[in-house]
Amino acid sequence: MISDRLPLVPRDILDDRLIGSLHLRTLTRDGFRAAPTHRHQAFQVGTISGLLHGNYAGEMPLSELLAHGNFGIGTLEELDGELIVLDGEPFAARASGVVDPVAPTTLIPFAVLCPFQPQVSWDIHTPAEWKEFTRAIDAHVPAQTPIVALRIDGAFSHLHLRSVHRQHPPYPPLTEVVQHQVEWHLPQATGTLVGFRFPGEIADIEIPGFHLHFVSDDRTQGGHVISVTCAHGRISVDYGSDLLLESDGARAASALDALTTDVLTQIEGDHTAPHGDA
Ligand SMILES: [Zn+2]
Repeated sequence: MISDRLPLVPRDILDDRLIGSLHLRTLTRDGFRAAPTHRHQAFQVGTISGLLHGNYAGEMPLSELLAHGNFGIGTLEELDGELIVLDGEPFAARASGVVDPVAPTTLIPFAVLCPFQPQVSWDIHTPAEWKEFTRAIDAHVPAQTPIVALRIDGAFSHLHLRSVHRQHPPYPPLTEVVQHQVEWHLPQATGTLVGFRFPGEIADIEIPGFHLHFVSDDRTQGGHVISVTCAHGRISVDYGSDLLLESDGARAASALDALTTDVLTQIEGDHTAPHGDA
């Protein structure tokens, strides 16, 4: 399938295990590069735990990640904004409020992408606030699907967004960075929500629950979504159970550190409870 790449050999696989219904495979960078891209798989670089430990520099260029997906979210080198990849186009929503295209050479400390191919889609005709909205998604997605990629194209009557400022070494802890995050509200916008729902069992690796970023149709507005009200739109869902994680030895070790819900709530807002929780 990808003939110009390295063959995937066992030493490239650092860890291969099942966590509930999720199949997590941790790979070296060479292994990650060589891994074939299959439908309904997600590809991740870095971990939440790594970010919490101040790993903001990034090692993998965006181009290597884009080889595995055309859809996803994350952060950028030195936390310089919120990453959105939509239809293969990468954007950065900066703390200044500007949305920029992202160069393929930009290093990515944390992101998850997939080759988005939805199995389920439906329309929303009546306004839905965050809780109704996430409940409807939970109801439409088959049970025991640990990775859910979500694309919502529509008109939004309210968006509460955030982004963070670029950091410089020595990097402050993430809990400190988010205390200085920039938040703003959009009363009306048309565009796309891009993101994932992950299970709580991998809270040290990924954001548990729903994690969405927004980019407007004209690509001038965007950010990490704190809350949203959808006026009308179409929801498309691509679900699966395979997560391929690129992580070097140090980051793989730090990924095993436990995170508390309090810390995650502090970092990501108030909607990180695993799905099914209130
Ligand atoms: Zn985010």
